[in-house]
Amino acid sequence: MRKHIVAGNWKMNLTFTEADELLDDLMSELEKVELPRDTQVIVCPPFPYLEMASDYANDSYFMVGAQNVSDQEKGAYTGEVSAAMLESCEIDYCIVGHSERRAYYGETDALVAAKVNQLLAHGLKPIVCVGEVLEEREAGRQLDVVKKQVEGGLFHLSAEQMQQVIIAYEPVWAIGTGKTATPDQAQEIHAHIRSLLAAKYGQAVADEVSILYGGSCKPSNAKELFAKPDIDGGLIGGASLKAEDFMGIVQSF
Ligand code: PEP
Repeated sequence: MRKHIVAGNWKMNLTFTEADELLDDLMSELEKVELPRDTQVIVCPPFPYLEMASDYANDSYFMVGAQNVSDQEKGAYTGEVSAAMLESCEIDYCIVGHSERRAYYGETDALVAAKVNQLLAHGLKPIVCVGEVLEEREAGRQLDVVKKQVEGGLFHLSAEQMQQVIIAYEPVWAIGTGKTATPDQAQEIHAHIRSLLAAKYGQAVADEVSILYGGSCKPSNAKELFAKPDIDGGLIGGASLKAEDFMGIVQSF
């Protein structure tokens, strides 16, 4: 059965010393609790801190992910980081298609698809973000928008590849705004995504894919969200920057 996952997206936050402190706090907090075997904790720091995070992860109960990857294999792409590099640093996960990358760096579904291909070719699990902006929700277009993103970013994959993917539904109007989707609003989209997967790949594959919710998720609302049948955990921004808050969410299953 699919895993319960809480992944922390640190975005472009924290100095080296602050990152070290947060990882140390997280390790101490994780030592105090016994998590169910099907619960996976993932930390996605900025690139310069991946190695430090991996060192902590070796002694702790969490995995490490990157926040972005190049769509190219290697070569003259100044400033880019390849999936082969992440693989060689033993990084297991990578966020792709976050709404901030779509909005500020022009990432399209085609680019997301190319990045997903790179990650899978190098044995990393993509965490693929989808979600509608406020105007799209106000126009009642959220189901269509998410369908287009899921199809465009993922539906070229084989069923076997699809089972390596984690999807994060992140309504853009809820990211960093303090406005959370209600559990029913989130469940509706999660069920929609799972039904799209079932129609394309069959129910067994759809049931294996973890679908995370992201958007102002915090200890006070995580339990209610995670109680929904198609919400398999969270992708956490702001609340992943404090070990106590992040752990509050981790313990909400
Ligand atoms: C995110 O950006 O992935 C996110 C969910 O952010 P926040 O939790 O801060 O809304």
